[in-house]
Amino acid sequence: MKEYKKDDLLTVSITDMDAEGQGIGKDDGYTIFVKDALVGDEVKVKIMKAKKNFAFARLEEVVTPSPYRVAPVCEHHRRCGGCQVQCLSYRAQLDFKQNKVRNNLIRIGGLEAETVDGCMEPIVGMEEPFRYRNKAQFPVGTDKEGNPVAGFYAQRTHAIIPNTDCVLGVSENKEILELILSFMKETGLPAYDETSGKGVVRHILIRKGFESGELMVCLVINRDSFKGEDELAKRLMKIPGMASVTLSVNKERTNVIMGTQIRLLAGKPTITDVLGGISFEISPLSFYQVNPVQTVKLYGKAVEYAGLTGKESVWDLYCGIGTISLFMAGKAGKVYGVEIIPEAIEDARRNAERNGFANTEFFVGKAEEVLPEFYENAAEQDKEDMLHPDVIVVDPPRKGCDEACLDTMLKMQPERIVYVSCDSATLARDLKVLCGGGYELKKVCCVDMFGHTMHVETVVLLSQQKPDDVIEVEIDLDELDLTSAESKATYKEIQEY
Ligand code: SAH
Repeated sequence: MKEYKKDDLLTVSITDMDAEGQGIGKDDGYTIFVKDALVGDEVKVKIMKAKKNFAFARLEEVVTPSPYRVAPVCEHHRRCGGCQVQCLSYRAQLDFKQNKVRNNLIRIGGLEAETVDGCMEPIVGMEEPFRYRNKAQFPVGTDKEGNPVAGFYAQRTHAIIPNTDCVLGVSENKEILELILSFMKETGLPAYDETSGKGVVRHILIRKGFESGELMVCLVINRDSFKGEDELAKRLMKIPGMASVTLSVNKERTNVIMGTQIRLLAGKPTITDVLGGISFEISPLSFYQVNPVQTVKLYGKAVEYAGLTGKESVWDLYCGIGTISLFMAGKAGKVYGVEIIPEAIEDARRNAERNGFANTEFFVGKAEEVLPEFYENAAEQDKEDMLHPDVIVVDPPRKGCDEACLDTMLKMQPERIVYVSCDSATLARDLKVLCGGGYELKKVCCVDMFGHTMHVETVVLLSQQKPDDVIEVEIDLDELDLTSAESKATYKEIQEY
């Protein structure tokens, strides 16, 4: 094989893309990763770092552009870490994601290509793949002229690129950020400086309830209070829709954005939003899906796959603030949620109550501990609907489900398992276990929640294989040739059956 070293110039065809959206090309069997190169491009690159079997290279020139290349919408897209594939047409992004999930199910999940193709529904894309995020956290810093700026971290660094109008966020962000930055300039309120640990304003969190129209601002600051905080809150409250202005104190020298406590400055401590007719109260610290329009479609698919008629018992593992649980609760007999974060479970209980879902119960703990413990200890009790639920829904973080959790799910033998996943590689790994344990892949549907990034959500329906799934063949016994030993054995088997 050829020797490759730093600063080598090469021309390569990009044939694939990795999880971070980097183009992947081959030169004589040697793999080259090129940031900002797209599948279908022919590019001239310069090697920045060469290893034995692969190299990272910088894009020097697009020689022949990919047929899927489109003009970027945002001038910052190459430096900002937010959008990884803004130059890939949205249709091509969707096709790429669908194909990635398909390949993982086949390669990692060990499923037959024919089975996967027979189960996969078309990916559900966004009607408008911009301005879809209901939440943004802007880091605040100081530019060379000493002016306060807000924006985004450049990819893999903490250098702030000033940008108050990200095209993925709501248009109100700009007015809110500019009001705060001009207040800082006017009053001399300094931005926080990560290197020295000095300064005050660290981050600005903005959230909008898409259905309610309510806006929330939370300033993360490096001390307990600052001069003029009430005046700033008063000015912010004049922005149409502003419902909540809070402070969060974070004096730690850490990458964690939010502090643990929230102090109300003006308006209400929470905003309300509605997802699929169910209302949720959201505090600055609550977990809440960032793309509400697609979330409704994702949960709708999960509910459809659960096949509820009104009497089923459902476990919702990794339930967060109970969003999926409550989507199911209106159509099920009973829903049991499990989640590791106690505050999220408090939110889930409150959300269930405010929406009148008395048929829900929530447990704090790890799914891989709560479920097995419950299964072992409740066996002798009269909890049939919990021990053998009709449906188990899981929506784990990227690392997927723990083995102990999968084992117990198999023991519980639900009729259907609905797996919601944000990482199709771990999904495929877990499906291998579940399909090996008596479940059959029935449906797969990808939903795009994060346009212009490489992430995709997938919902899968598995069904328990039953003896009556065995194909029935009608045999006319009179027609059987009963002279051979084989036929005699078959005849005996049929009679016994
Ligand atoms: N279903 C929810 C949340 C999904 S995110 C929704 O759609 O809004 C995954 C959730 O799993 C997070 O809330 C996280 O806190 C929780 N989690 C992570 N590890 C867990 C574990 N081992 N057991 C239970 N919950 C866990």
